[in-house]
Amino acid sequence: MIDAATPISPLGLTRDDFARAGAMRGVPLPHARKAYARFYRERDWAAIPDLPRTVIAPIVNRLDEPCAEGVTTKFVQRLDPPDSGRFADQGVPHLDIESVIIPMIGRTGRKGHTLCVSSQVGCAMGCGFCETAQMGLVRSLTAAEIVGQWWAAREILIDEGGAGVPIDNIVFMGMGEPLDNLDEVLKAIACLADHSGPGMPMSSITVSTVGRVDGLRRLVEVVQQEGWKRLGIALSVNAPSDEVRNEIMPLNKRWGMEELREVMLDLMKVRASRKLLFEYVLIPGVNDSDEHAQQLGDWLRPFVRSETQGHIGLLNVIPYNPRRNSPWPAPSEASVTRFIEAMSGQGVYVKRRRTKGRSQMAACGQLGTSEIRGRNYTPITTNKSAG
Ligand code: SAH
Repeated sequence: MIDAATPISPLGLTRDDFARAGAMRGVPLPHARKAYARFYRERDWAAIPDLPRTVIAPIVNRLDEPCAEGVTTKFVQRLDPPDSGRFADQGVPHLDIESVIIPMIGRTGRKGHTLCVSSQVGCAMGCGFCETAQMGLVRSLTAAEIVGQWWAAREILIDEGGAGVPIDNIVFMGMGEPLDNLDEVLKAIACLADHSGPGMPMSSITVSTVGRVDGLRRLVEVVQQEGWKRLGIALSVNAPSDEVRNEIMPLNKRWGMEELREVMLDLMKVRASRKLLFEYVLIPGVNDSDEHAQQLGDWLRPFVRSETQGHIGLLNVIPYNPRRNSPWPAPSEASVTRFIEAMSGQGVYVKRRRTKGRSQMAACGQLGTSEIRGRNYTPITTNKSAG
């Protein structure tokens, strides 16, 4: 809860929560509401007199990589030095948040952007194929720090003169496991979707998870609330069987694929208006054989088609982007095509995720600070409740 001594920032709060926090400090409600809207609409810091500017972490690094649709931009925000200091003795020189702006061309040919945000610095999940996992978890981000990434991305796009190139999608597919930080992630989403604030439609926000079943059960409740029904949910399934999944995703030993499918089916029942997304990182020699495709098709069967709604699940095949010191190469074009055809042959609605940003270590699963790799970190915490 916010008390009178806490500095108030509209970042990470809804308009009403912000106004309530203001009221505790003697700011009349209508005044605070107006200030909130002006802050977001006009990017007007003066609208909120006592807001410290440092709430938005400065961008310390930025990498651009051209692609067919435009330029993929990875940017790094560094959190305040006092905060970083606390982690210095743990072998973490800086607390850096990485985010990626990915250009998209819509069905109508209109240009837009997907913003990929981080929910944590590092990650505790330990997936063998992911760069971020090599860092371990440094710390979870606050709602303000999550929304701060959206703010920084918008500043980058506006500076580029792109008033007409907004951020039209936000995906929690950067560093970290969102369901390991669910309270702050939900607060951030409430803020991002606030009509007086960033005003992102709920349907253009997607949370991607390694498959923390406790967190997914909470999402079953969340998506039944007014305003949350169209929140996007993506599951990184990444394997066709427990045998393979246990190998590459340690969390699977806690919650296996059967339990995972059950909770996904519960989600499907309460939010059938929107497709569930299943992500599958295709790794040569690990999960890319014809037999794997067959097993995956069996597991996905309940999501393949419904009498009334057509396909309710979309499988997104992501060609593996080698992490640093990767034991596996990227898959060949031929094997990606073959796997995708094997899936569509089984009636699965499947799409390939185009690789963008790979040379800048900005592609899926490549975010992470190399200096922090390999330090001793707290391994996966499977007994903690989500958020
Ligand atoms: N923790 C969340 C979100 C972060 S990763 C999750 O697990 O979903 C976002 C996506 O990138 C996930 O689907 C993940 O499986 C995928 N990914 C991770 N490492 C990858 C790599 N090296 N190459 C391609 N995709 C990768």
